[in-house]
Amino acid sequence: MLNTKHSESADSDSKRASAGSGGSHVSDGAAAGHRSYSTSTDRPHSGTGRSGGHRPARSHDGMRSGRGGGYRSHEATRGTAHRAAAHHVSIDPGHAHKKAPQNENATRLVPLGGLEEIGRNMSFVEHKDEIVIIDMGIQFPEEETPGIDFIIPNVDYLAPKKANIRGLVLTHAHFDHVGAIPYLIGRIGNPTVYTTKLTKALIEKRQEEFVNAPKLNIVVVDNGDKVKLGKHIELEFFGVDHTVPDTIGVVVKTPEANIVHFADFRLDYDEEGNAAKLDDFERIGKLGIHTFMIDSTNAEKEGHSVSERLVEENLEKLFVEADGRIILTTFSTMLTRIAEIIKICEKIGRKVFVSGRSMKDAIQISHTLGYMKFKKDSVLPIEEIGKYDDDKILVLTTGAQGQSNAGLMKIVTGEHKYVQIKPGDTMIFSSSVIPGNERSVQHLKDHLTRQGAIVFNSEMIDIHSSGHAPKADLQTVVKLIKPKFLMPVHGYYFMRSANGKNAVEIGLPKENVRLMDNGQVAELTKETFTIISETVPATYVMVDGLGVGDVGEVVIRDRRILAQEGMVVVITTIDRKTGRVLKNPDIISRGFIYLKESQELLNEVRKKVRLIIGKIPPGQLDGDYLKNLMRDQIGQYLYNKTFRRPMILPVIIEI
Ligand SMILES: [Zn+2]
Repeated sequence: MLNTKHSESADSDSKRASAGSGGSHVSDGAAAGHRSYSTSTDRPHSGTGRSGGHRPARSHDGMRSGRGGGYRSHEATRGTAHRAAAHHVSIDPGHAHKKAPQNENATRLVPLGGLEEIGRNMSFVEHKDEIVIIDMGIQFPEEETPGIDFIIPNVDYLAPKKANIRGLVLTHAHFDHVGAIPYLIGRIGNPTVYTTKLTKALIEKRQEEFVNAPKLNIVVVDNGDKVKLGKHIELEFFGVDHTVPDTIGVVVKTPEANIVHFADFRLDYDEEGNAAKLDDFERIGKLGIHTFMIDSTNAEKEGHSVSERLVEENLEKLFVEADGRIILTTFSTMLTRIAEIIKICEKIGRKVFVSGRSMKDAIQISHTLGYMKFKKDSVLPIEEIGKYDDDKILVLTTGAQGQSNAGLMKIVTGEHKYVQIKPGDTMIFSSSVIPGNERSVQHLKDHLTRQGAIVFNSEMIDIHSSGHAPKADLQTVVKLIKPKFLMPVHGYYFMRSANGKNAVEIGLPKENVRLMDNGQVAELTKETFTIISETVPATYVMVDGLGVGDVGEVVIRDRRILAQEGMVVVITTIDRKTGRVLKNPDIISRGFIYLKESQELLNEVRKKVRLIIGKIPPGQLDGDYLKNLMRDQIGQYLYNKTFRRPMILPVIIEI
């Protein structure tokens, strides 16, 4: 028998493809027909050497054939996430020796994301049968995750324990802290959310876009509020300054430890150079803090936060000097900054036109709730832009990170209905570039400059004050909080390490800095903070279009190979009875090498295919086995000849 259960769908696909036509036209059909097959059940590349240890489990095939068309269902989602989790072992070698027996009376502290990347911030505290979660953010895609919309935290540990989850604290409305809510909150039992008034309004608005996501239960909290969550866990809140109003920090109090999470924060200075909210931080420090989870984003930067007053002055200068239109881009949630921009425009007589729904919504909500004050006709719909002279216009748009679907990209590419770039426009980037987005932002600036715009960004002039405290401010806060242990969060290892060093400089014992990885578990008792050997799943869960988590490591790896090395389809027709090759194998490639100019190589591959099949005794041909053989040997052969490893897709047609 040639066919096995697994090869059936492949063969029928290829028959369909080749039935339609011959020659080169077949290639498109066959390639297209097989793309979905290869990424879901088959492992075309597993034999070519590169992927060795990652050869996926067979059970996946079974899952798919059993589920038929429902591959994109939630079960599949979970399956993929679990499998991915199985690959994940990330014990920091520095702590691996600190194995400790599980202490039932200890408080467990677990970061699920945000410690090996920028974004995807989420962590939880567990004490006996009570759990409280802090934040639920997304991470923007990386170059290594082609085609992915964004990445969300892994909640495989929390989902089965949903009955224990007493609450979800949201520190502020930035997407890297709240963006994953619509995707995840249902899976963990839709726990009560504790957050501030503005964050509540913004996340409720976004939740409306997700018809299948549950309605949120939100309790509004403010500076000084205390909430008892259960028998063991209590929360106390305090305000911090950041680039969105209503950002809040939290103290999670358990019988073993007071854990402070400071959200994202910076210090805000007034004209006299006095920082705000230090009294509140002192109050928190007096509670006796066991562990301080502290923002590390700017830990490597020296000095104090740039005063928002200075930013305001510089922006005003820039606005006044501009002759033509001003187009300004920032995040839709940089609401503090947006409020300042509107204020300056009112002062100098420019109207603000907002492009982008997320920004329009955020401004409207802030205005309604009183976080932003401006006259009704200061902010106008973009449709009315034609009624005003260029020097009376400021366009506020999203897309400062070069996102392909955002407002600024549409303006730059000429696809925007109301705004195109023209010579004399002043373009202002009033935000920092998220690490990883540098290239697309440069590309954007290039386009703008070619079209005649004058481009300003925060490297040239202080028109952006980061929302994250630099070294001197981080040290000020550590002094006030006086923690026993410091756990730097938010950022790559090197940023967190710098944050630890900053604290050691001002007297924190070096051995009390804890650099954890995502998914590691810390056990806290009154005097100790121990990273134990247990880990919880914390691997990437990727959101690709409407699918959540169904694009796993294997799919991403395939995309990477396709992008970097291309693919080769080998179509072989075999006599069902004799097992012999019936006609010359068809070879099609995409993104590999131009085969028409490589006839010799092509002929060699054909010979190789005949050789591989010829060696198998008649009657012992097995579809799967043969395909693996072809992948291995054709893959190796092409590598020897070209030093490339394209994805090999063997297709076997039996007649
Ligand atoms: Zn933030």
